Amino acid sequence: MTAPATFLRDIFGFDAFRPGQEEIVAAVTAGQNTLAIMPTGGGKSLCYQLPALCRDGVTVVISPLIALMRDQVRSLREVGVEAGALTSANTEAENEEVFEALDQGRLKLLYMAPERLGVAEGMLRRIGVGLIAVDEAHCVSQWGHDFRPDYLRIGTLRRSLGVPLAAFTATADAETQAEIVERLFGGETPATFLRGFDRPNIHLAFAVKDSPRRQILDWAGRRKGLSGIVYTATRAKTETLARALEEAGHSAAHYHGGMDPEERRMVETRFQREDGLIVVATVAFGMGIDKPDIRWVAHADLPKTIEGYYQEIGRAGRDGAPAETLTLYGPDDIRLRRSQIDESVAPPERRAADHGRLNALLGLAEAMSCRRQGLLRYFGETSEPCGNCDICDRPVEVFDATEAVRKALSAILRTGEWFGTGHLIDILTGNRTTKVAERGHDALPTFAVGRDLSKPAWGAVFRQMMGRDLVRPDPERHGALRMTDEALPILKGEQPITLRRDTVDKAPGRTAVKT
Ligand code: ADP
Ligand code: ZN
Repeated sequence: MTAPATFLRDIFGFDAFRPGQEEIVAAVTAGQNTLAIMPTGGGKSLCYQLPALCRDGVTVVISPLIALMRDQVRSLREVGVEAGALTSANTEAENEEVFEALDQGRLKLLYMAPERLGVAEGMLRRIGVGLIAVDEAHCVSQWGHDFRPDYLRIGTLRRSLGVPLAAFTATADAETQAEIVERLFGGETPATFLRGFDRPNIHLAFAVKDSPRRQILDWAGRRKGLSGIVYTATRAKTETLARALEEAGHSAAHYHGGMDPEERRMVETRFQREDGLIVVATVAFGMGIDKPDIRWVAHADLPKTIEGYYQEIGRAGRDGAPAETLTLYGPDDIRLRRSQIDESVAPPERRAADHGRLNALLGLAEAMSCRRQGLLRYFGETSEPCGNCDICDRPVEVFDATEAVRKALSAILRTGEWFGTGHLIDILTGNRTTKVAERGHDALPTFAVGRDLSKPAWGAVFRQMMGRDLVRPDPERHGALRMTDEALPILKGEQPITLRRDTVDKAPGRTAVKT
């Protein structure tokens, strides 16, 4: 049997599970009756789609939302999964197609509207159902707003087919849960997953990279003797950084997927047993690590996605005691990640989605209010400012950057979108380098219009513009910045933009940017 994590990557194109997904997928795949309560947008669909692929037989998905079913069928087919829907919105031809696929034993997922259950029971008994998944399971509750009488048939169906059932809902109150258990599972308590995503004991912090090695050494130096993990983007860096930590008097080891299994096991065992060991690793490290007292996790490079970030920082503080995290990021990370996405062989829609996910992560990195709130919002949970992140500790100063951004965009456009940050900043700050002079860029109207900001301040403006996806490095132009459509309203003066000020000017002896 193929592991769910493999399908997650190869079929759905996701690098990591979202909080809660992995456990639910494991239970459902193993054939346990399951009740999962997840906020809307938390990623429920995957929790039955992955098991459907891993298990034998057809997975019947019951959902009251016809549009959602049709959407899901379409996107499953796009990634090569055989799925079909039987709903009142189907044409005769669509029904024929579904029945034919069922007859040929091709279908892995069959979506059904609840009102079809009455007439379809005989058919379902013939086709070899392996699993029933019930979306919006609270519709079985008479007291809720969404009661659907047809949902009452599901319990009987489960018994007569004799297959496991997985129920999903975003409604968490106890009465609804009890009714779901009674009516869908005949009163037998299923494996139940209700877990908020928040890990309140983990302190969240991000910092702009200036000299990452020194930043990590400083961070570790203030946490001597505590167990921690440093994640890096490359295998080579795990070795150099581990060595630097050892030279600074820490006990450190490196870990990556290119090492012998033997060596890797040794590091895992040491980490488990020794106090105060620092493991510098790629994301290959962590799965199966079950150490409750990891006191800190640092990212020396920007993680790949918010899901990955959450999973990696989530390895800290499993014992519930305070734990700390630090994530470093900079323009090079953004450039690297953008070009990795642009140069991948994935179809255009997936690349667009990957850019979107990267934007969400960069939004978190450049956040202007509580990071945890932003993180939880991404997973569908609402919350109050947490009081346990760098921004709650010290609110960021923001400023109206509309003019600065317009100047930067103008410099990009007037040079034909052929240049990178360094040259653009030279133009803006009126730095007549050889390159500027040779290209005649000192004659541009934009030349020296940005003297009010320092070089590092402009660096921060460009970085945040990249983070907001206003400009993207073009891999076919050696990373030259090109404007995206997002930036148009700002360029045209139709929309203002606010940027963080505290990260804007770090040049010693200079005052913060004047607006
Ligand atoms: P729900 O049904 O819980 O409201 P969905 O299943 O529609 O949520 O998922 C919400 C969004 O999250 C979808 O766009 C989906 O592609 C995305 N998503 C789900 N799981 C993951 C994951 N592990 N990594 C990245 N994105 C994910
Ligand atoms: Zn906070």
